[in-house]
Amino acid sequence: MQTIEQDRNHVWHHLSQHSVLKTQDPMIIVKGEGSRVWDIKGNSYLDASAGGVWCVNVGYGRTSIADAISQQLSTLNFFAGTAGTIPGAVFAEKLVAKMPGMSRVYYASSGSEANEKAFKIVRQISHKKYGGKKYKILYRERDYHGSTIATLSATGQEERRQQYGPFVPGFVEFPHCCEYRGQFGDVDNYGELAALELENAILREGPDTVGSVILEPITAGGGVITAPQGYWPKIQEICRKYNVLLHIDEVVCGLGRTGKWFGYQHYGIQPDIVTLAKGVASSYAAISCTVTTEAVFQEFLADGAEKDVYFRDISTFGGCTAGPAAAIENMRIIEEEGLVENSALMGDYLLAGFQQLKEKFELIGDVRGKGLLLGIELVSDRANKTPAPEQVAIRVAAMCMQKGLIIGRTNRSFEQLNNTLCFCPVMTITQEEADFILQTLDSVFSELS
Ligand code: PLP
Repeated sequence: MQTIEQDRNHVWHHLSQHSVLKTQDPMIIVKGEGSRVWDIKGNSYLDASAGGVWCVNVGYGRTSIADAISQQLSTLNFFAGTAGTIPGAVFAEKLVAKMPGMSRVYYASSGSEANEKAFKIVRQISHKKYGGKKYKILYRERDYHGSTIATLSATGQEERRQQYGPFVPGFVEFPHCCEYRGQFGDVDNYGELAALELENAILREGPDTVGSVILEPITAGGGVITAPQGYWPKIQEICRKYNVLLHIDEVVCGLGRTGKWFGYQHYGIQPDIVTLAKGVASSYAAISCTVTTEAVFQEFLADGAEKDVYFRDISTFGGCTAGPAAAIENMRIIEEEGLVENSALMGDYLLAGFQQLKEKFELIGDVRGKGLLLGIELVSDRANKTPAPEQVAIRVAAMCMQKGLIIGRTNRSFEQLNNTLCFCPVMTITQEEADFILQTLDSVFSELS
């Protein structure tokens, strides 16, 4: 087939070892409708990965979003973000209305970029207020924040970082909070102990050198990790105590995926900076947002005498109007169809189903997640929690694919903890579709046992 050869010969796929394509055809996806996609050979799949990387929240084939984009593009496709546009203004107001305490929206076009903007905001505040001293940015082991060198410098996944150093100075890692793989044993206050790792890091580095901490509300690609109870309030308390800005990376969790509009809203905390991307327009257009409180924004206002106080940053494609036009319609769909509620409902249903699978199959060590962001961690010895080799997760995903189900998994790895299956179905998922996911997994695990 012509497309397959064009792709094989000229496209460089993301996160892929191309040598396998010498003996097997690349997968080419040609169509999507609801929660299903079709490949170029006519095979149909239920996509429990929302486009492979947690993106297509409202499902495929939304002509109303396509129409909103088309209408906007024929009026005005672009103007640089130095000026405003109508969809940009409308969406910013709608967005912060869902985020009490947040005030300003800075547009760009990818999650990495949104995080880079946040880092620059922190660094500039450090220069303005603290003589450049409060420049360090803390990040957590197993969290991922993007593919650029600065965002990789803030990423706690060794497999993503190897061979790309040296990294940017001023980024410091502290331990993860995964209780299943935890260091504190079986204690009641695990969450609090895990949060104290942040305080330890701040004290080690010196509180007057730490500007912010970046955290995923639920670690996605690092193994779908939800923090134990007590973790988040303690994190907030520590940030306030040491005057450290709390930056929540909602690139995956944002816009309803976890059963609330934003992942951090499960925990009653108030961030200073929130970054968003994939779900903002369900990836019908490229758009990301760096959202800040009014207090952070005010740091960049001058009385006229000072120069260079404004945020000296630009993202060319942050001025594309397709993004906010799509985002407005995306938000309308989520609201009118009750998709945040459906994420919570169907997420609970799937998690209960995963729990039953765990009772049946020794291969499953842990199941976890919130809303429609769920994970199954595979082990080869349940009592000792020995991680199953990476090949097992690869095999489960391949067998699901053969049965018409696309699932995700923690990515190719140089370390051992690459044993988690990831689930992120579109937020319109029905109970029938959830049952298909559960039945397919049941049959795959049965065959493997
Ligand atoms: N932050 C998180 C939590 C992510 O999962 C990702 C991508 O997967 C990013 C940031 C980077 O987003 P992008 O690939 O759009 O740059």
